[in-house]
Amino acid sequence: MLLSKEQALKHYFGYDTFRPQQAEIIDTVLQGQDCLVLMPTGGGKSVCYQVPAVVQEGLTVVISPLIALMKDQVEALRANGIEAAYLNSSLSGQEQDSVMWKAKLGELKLLYVAPERLFSGNTLEHFKSWKVRLFAVDEAHCISSWGHDFRPEYRQLSSIKSHFPDVPVIALTATADRVTRRDILTQLGTPEAPTFVASFDRPNLSLTVLPGRKRLPQIEQFLKKHPNQPGIIYCLSRKTTESVAAMLQSKGYRADCYHAGLPPAQRSHVQESFLKDDIQIIVATIAFGMGIDKSNVRWVIHYNLPPNVESFYQEIGRSGRDGAPADTVLFYSYQDIIMRQDMIVQSEQSQEQKELLHAKLNRMKQYAEADLCRRRILLSYFNEAVEQDCGNCDVCQNPRTRFDGTLIAQKALSVIARSRESVAMGMLIDVLRGSKNRAVLNHGYDKMPTFGVGNDLRGEEWAEYIGQMLNSGVMDIAYDEAHAFKLNAVSWQILKEGRKLELVKFIPLAERKAREEELVPKEKPKQEIIRDALFEQLRLLRKQMADALNVPPYVIFSDKTISEMAQKRPVSEAQMKAVSGVGDEKYRRYGEAFVQEIVKFAKDNTKPGTRVVKGMTYIQTHELYKDGFTIDDIAQQRGLTSSTVVGHLVKLREEGHDINLRSLISDKMYQEVLAGAEELNVKLGDPITPLFEHLGERIEYGMIRLALAIREGA
Ligand code: ADP
Ligand code: ZN
Repeated sequence: MLLSKEQALKHYFGYDTFRPQQAEIIDTVLQGQDCLVLMPTGGGKSVCYQVPAVVQEGLTVVISPLIALMKDQVEALRANGIEAAYLNSSLSGQEQDSVMWKAKLGELKLLYVAPERLFSGNTLEHFKSWKVRLFAVDEAHCISSWGHDFRPEYRQLSSIKSHFPDVPVIALTATADRVTRRDILTQLGTPEAPTFVASFDRPNLSLTVLPGRKRLPQIEQFLKKHPNQPGIIYCLSRKTTESVAAMLQSKGYRADCYHAGLPPAQRSHVQESFLKDDIQIIVATIAFGMGIDKSNVRWVIHYNLPPNVESFYQEIGRSGRDGAPADTVLFYSYQDIIMRQDMIVQSEQSQEQKELLHAKLNRMKQYAEADLCRRRILLSYFNEAVEQDCGNCDVCQNPRTRFDGTLIAQKALSVIARSRESVAMGMLIDVLRGSKNRAVLNHGYDKMPTFGVGNDLRGEEWAEYIGQMLNSGVMDIAYDEAHAFKLNAVSWQILKEGRKLELVKFIPLAERKAREEELVPKEKPKQEIIRDALFEQLRLLRKQMADALNVPPYVIFSDKTISEMAQKRPVSEAQMKAVSGVGDEKYRRYGEAFVQEIVKFAKDNTKPGTRVVKGMTYIQTHELYKDGFTIDDIAQQRGLTSSTVVGHLVKLREEGHDINLRSLISDKMYQEVLAGAEELNVKLGDPITPLFEHLGERIEYGMIRLALAIREGA
């Protein structure tokens, strides 16, 4: 029997509701129409073709360039009880044959293939003889040379439509501007297909920018607040990845570096260890990530500034894919901007290209220097207007204080003027603060009347304020003259015409940390400690199972799912299946073990008068029952009435546990109760006292209820 799309979502994936757009997309596909889907990483693209795959007959072919990911994706589908397989160069000829057979015999719902495999040999001919009902093209931007990751082998996909004119194609991507979007549809031969654009907001990602000074101590601080949580630190250079990883290792962290210069074997080992939660931290260049589908990355730190907002968003998007909270941090300093600008200037691009790159870098800079809600800025880049401040970025949590900074600006601008516009950042600060170093003396800057006018501020304060001045266009910078500052019309208005300038108050790092600490409650409430401890225990169980099955832990349950378990502590099948992410097959495979773990935890943590899990009392009764004790024994051991014990057993039976109620009562007694109940017309749920009295007060309430329950088919 085929399920409805809602039933399929619950049965296979364990989710109660579709995310925005998913249902419409699925309906479109089921009606046999092509479409293009734009959703951020972690937005839930896979469901858009996996649900259609399981609610209709025939095969769904998923085309993906990420060979390394296929195995895990297929593994995850199987864990949900969906028959799936993949075809790519990593399989032996024999293995490929076996997959082809399964597909031919109709035993597969989904088949993942690499594009080159699809068009090699006689694969296409085979596909034509099977019942292919849907093509899903993942990472669809790879088909367009306008996209950022063009792959020539994807170009061949343009012939799918001519080979299979009646099979719908769903193209999916997380990154595509207007031009790329149109190109994807043209290339696929479906120019008229509707495009679904989901919101790019990822509200579970917190956004923070930290000053790019003393980065390592700040990272250590951060890691203390994220014990055991997997995360990625992105660095610009290979050398930095190595030194940061070495520092973390020396402090006892399970960290390793990853970059394109490492031997392939080492790279895949590092990646594998990270997927399996054997390594907590990956310090990587951007070479790391494309092939990563790990859903429980809990944080991403950018050690250096990314070149544009797209890259930044894609990289932070690798965290929190399971929907549970994740933290992102960007280190930012003026120096980073200069470095990026130099890279553009020195690159072999056309002038036009360079201007575009500068403009993109500028948007990144605006994000980093924002003094309004960062999420609003980020999403405005993707043309999304956000109604309200997000409350989950550092600006929202730490609103900026502004003050009249005109005098500060005048001091800096007059030094620039007197130096005949030849000083850059470092020298400007030295002159303002009156430092008599060699460079200053060589230029004779110490003779300037403005020498030392700014010694009331520290160097880092000056760096901050000069940065802000640049952002507000109060002066310019000449990249081709060693980054010397230049005065412009606004500069002169401030110097000569009394124009005012507002600055945002600089908060020293130490103070900032103190404030952040205030935000974190010092002592956690008891409930939370218990929850965290249980989460940890469930995480370990998941890890053990994953290692035994040789799959990444998140394939078993996502962080979000086990964190919900830790919170709700389900101890029965019904309770467990109510947890988001626990579908029927997952319950069948892993549910019981997790229930056991929660029960064990509850027992270890139950003190008189506390209730760690709902329904613990049923479990205790159940265990004694399983050990063969009679109702009276159980009642006595647990200090309950036998009536209560019977109530437990009836309820356990209703929940589907294997309990033979009939064996708990003798034939004679059973018949006697039934006869009495018949005479008085008493049913389960009615007051029992009249029947109790009618039977001469010899048969206990519990037994009476039991007999009634059996009669009514419990
Ligand atoms: P993408 O491919 O867009 O990066 P995925 O398809 O991997 O994202 O989905 C990200 C996460 O969201 C997965 O853990 C997935 O199971 C989960 N998810 C998808 N749809 C839903 C839904 N309707 N309700 C709850 N979780 C969902
Ligand atoms: Zn915000």
